[in-house]
Formats: sequence, C-alpha cells, structure tokens
Amino acid sequence: MNTQILKLKGANMDIDLATPAADITWQQDACPWNQAESTDSHRCAVKNISICPHFRGVEYLDTLLCSYPIPPQTSNPNV
Ligand code: SF4
Repeated sequence: MNTQILKLKGANMDIDLATPAADITWQQDACPWNQAESTDSHRCAVKNISICPHFRGVEYLDTLLCSYPIPPQTSNPNV
C-alpha cells in the first residue's frame, strides 16, 4: 500500500509540557526550559496565543520536537 503524507499549514495547536504529572493520566516529559527556570510559564504552542521559540513541531505520533537550550536563531531549520 502506498501512503501519502500531506503537510498542511494552518494547524491551530494547543500543546504544552507544563502540566504537573499528578494532574494528567498519561506519561509526559517536562519542559526543560521550565525546569531550568523553576517555572511553568513556557508553553510549546498555545492556540491563538504563542509558539515557543524552541518549538520545532511534532513527530508521529505524539513526540514534541524541542531545541532548548540551543538559541532559536541557531536551531531554526528554515534559516
Ligand atoms: S518547545 Fe521546548 S522549551 Fe519550548 S515550551 Fe516546549 S518543551 Fe519547553
């Protein structure tokens, strides 16, 4: 079977790794930037609000791609 994967612009995502493990029922890694700064203010991609400069998308099925701590301007694959 030949399966084609489309890359479509405009996904309005709502992703973060800031929720404490005790508050969710699935396994989730913590944001390394939040851990380094002892905060929960950094969010990966929040619908209609912001996208973290270290956010590099999502890999199938549910793996977040994060460039932290490399400065965003040196890790941007589109530069
Ligand atoms: S992309 Fe990385 S640094 Fe940015 S909020 Fe998500 S996990 Fe944290």
